[in-house]
Amino acid sequence: MKLVLLGTGCPQVDPLRMGPAILIHAGGRRLLFDCGSGVTQRLVQAGTKGAEIDALFLTHLHSDHVVDFHQLLVSSWHQGRDKPWKVFGPPGTIGFVERSAALWKPELDIRVAHEKRPSVAGLDVEVKEFADGQTLRGGVTVTPVKVNHDPFPEVYGFIVEHEGLRFVHSADTIVWQPLIEAARGADCLLHEVFIKREMRPIDGVRTQEGIDAVASYHTLSTEVGAVAAEADVGMLILNHFVPTRFDRDALVADVRAHWSGPLILGEDLMAYDLATRTLQAGGATVAFAR
Ligand SMILES: [Zn+2]
Ligand SMILES: [Zn+2]
Repeated sequence: MKLVLLGTGCPQVDPLRMGPAILIHAGGRRLLFDCGSGVTQRLVQAGTKGAEIDALFLTHLHSDHVVDFHQLLVSSWHQGRDKPWKVFGPPGTIGFVERSAALWKPELDIRVAHEKRPSVAGLDVEVKEFADGQTLRGGVTVTPVKVNHDPFPEVYGFIVEHEGLRFVHSADTIVWQPLIEAARGADCLLHEVFIKREMRPIDGVRTQEGIDAVASYHTLSTEVGAVAAEADVGMLILNHFVPTRFDRDALVADVRAHWSGPLILGEDLMAYDLATRTLQAGGATVAFAR
């Protein structure tokens, strides 16, 4: 099982950290998790196209996680996608996909009529809304785990299992015991992080009250190490950095206060192979102890 970080950012615009999206290669399948801003460009950079994705899983419907859905649909069709999309998402996903389709229908009708491509099957979307703990099987096993991102409703992390390997994706959440239980002994935990010291009020942009409110539904840099330690995971990878630019040494120190195991600060286009415990990033290959 191999994990590719396509986007490690958040709503903040940063060319080095696109919106949230993760690609998993497992059992010959390509599974995409979220489709934040820039996902289609990063897929091409990662050597995959939207045309080749077997299934799209959505953690939740916050805009930073789904904003490029229509771009993914159209660009994949342009790449020759000739099979319907399979989208698995939380309650509300059917409505989201229907509203997106309604918004773009007049434009898409003209496109389809004039572009005269060989198939329109790639524009079809089959949506299934999942429930907490409902296992989805198809060569690779994916199990949603409801997390806590209140006041935003219906947010799910995922457990992905294949050939004895277990990957756990936190999605956006506060420190949440059911997620820690799901991650217990996992080969790899990918976790979001909010670095509060880096967030200062800026006149006309953000207030301390707003920063406190957003921090209250994420996991702080001073907390995430304890999550990994309690779950006793084989690898901790951080992503969904808020903000996207930060003092790396200070972040490592925050995490190291509680977690002495292997730690990766994620970057866009990093790839991590769970079986070989090998990381590929920016031309470097790092092999971790097994
Ligand atoms: Zn988010
Ligand atoms: Zn969110």
